[in-house]
Amino acid sequence: AEARFIANNPLSKAQQDLAVGAFPGGNTRTLLHTSPFPLCMKQGKDAYVWDVDGHKYVDFVGELTAGLLGHSHPTIHRTLLSTLSDTGLSLGATTAHEHTLAALLCARFRLDRVRMTSSGTEANLHALAGARHLTGRRRVVVFSGGYHGAVLSFPGGKPAANTVDARDFVVVPRYNDVSLAREVIKRTEDLAAVLVEPMQGAGGCIVGTREFLHGVRRAAGEKGVVFILDEVMTSRLAPGGLGSQMGLEPDLVTLGKYLGGGLAFGAFGGREEVMRVYDPRVEGALAHSGTFNNNTLVVRAGAAVLRDVYTAEVCVAFNERGEGFRERLRLAAKGSRLSVTGWGSLIGLHFTEDGMQEISCGEDLKGKERLDMRDLFWFEMLEAGFWTTRRGLIAMILGTPDDELDRFVEVVRGFLEKHRHT
Ligand code: PMP
Repeated sequence: AEARFIANNPLSKAQQDLAVGAFPGGNTRTLLHTSPFPLCMKQGKDAYVWDVDGHKYVDFVGELTAGLLGHSHPTIHRTLLSTLSDTGLSLGATTAHEHTLAALLCARFRLDRVRMTSSGTEANLHALAGARHLTGRRRVVVFSGGYHGAVLSFPGGKPAANTVDARDFVVVPRYNDVSLAREVIKRTEDLAAVLVEPMQGAGGCIVGTREFLHGVRRAAGEKGVVFILDEVMTSRLAPGGLGSQMGLEPDLVTLGKYLGGGLAFGAFGGREEVMRVYDPRVEGALAHSGTFNNNTLVVRAGAAVLRDVYTAEVCVAFNERGEGFRERLRLAAKGSRLSVTGWGSLIGLHFTEDGMQEISCGEDLKGKERLDMRDLFWFEMLEAGFWTTRRGLIAMILGTPDDELDRFVEVVRGFLEKHRHT
């Protein structure tokens, strides 16, 4: 399969050869590096992408959830053009447009107050800064497999980045283990915040159980620490985000991805008492600056997303469609090496020797994954015209035709049949 990939994609290979002259390894987004070389895309339209060698794919990467609306959604397209012609880019001043988006975000995600950033990573960093300022404490409880941005990721139980002080983070070694989490929260000194995803996204689309999430929330409350729910990836899964679907009441929520209409975006917000630390009228308030926090392209696109495209009704219908699609994949995978996880429009695919029934955290998969099958799957899906992430995340996008979903289920079924004994 890899040899065919090389033979089929000479122009992608040529681009990679060029790119290594300027980028380390030819890459400026680690996740998008694949061996032997990444595919180089040329164009996206609606639910499809085309690579430089001319192959057309159904886009199941969905820009890692930021591309929810599909490529060049007409409403976003119009909004961006009119922003360029009527508003101008950043104005170096506040504008009514950012006030509109802020009000929409507050209403939709039940936030008293919100602040905007240019990425989900920044949103989480500022949420942590706010929690530290408010509590006068420093440490943060996070979960193994958690991903809150490039400098806030905790694969295998410790911070992946050396830009943060590892002593500041206490990593609970298993997600979804409520008694372990409660114990760690209880015994950790100097604790300012607990930061958790309601579904670990980059960690494999592993959904937090209600018992776990509520238990963690309660433990944080009992200890007087700020409970931060990272909904950067999951806010799309229900009208108020996955946490609200589960009845959680976080102190702070972080957001991002598709909420900027496909442009660089992040936001953090929540209870007034916490967000007040960012009120510049108050002496000793925390600063939260950022040249592009309110750039007109993003804030106008973001407002269009919530008001005109991804309404609560569209959100519910879209995720029900995802639920049905995932259920069919699960059925196709029954008795095979493939396990299917996720919620609504986000799907995680995992290959293990015997196919696991239950995956409640990344540690369950440790040493059991068939990474060779995962890679083979990726190569064969490309040949069948499906652009998926190598790691197995499928992020659905709005306009994918039903017959492409049907075809994918059949292609997956065929793959599993063919490789029953691989
Ligand atoms: N939190 C979660 C849960 C994410 O999935 C991501 C991005 N994959 C981030 C934070 C970081 O967002 P960004 O890439 O916009 O910095």
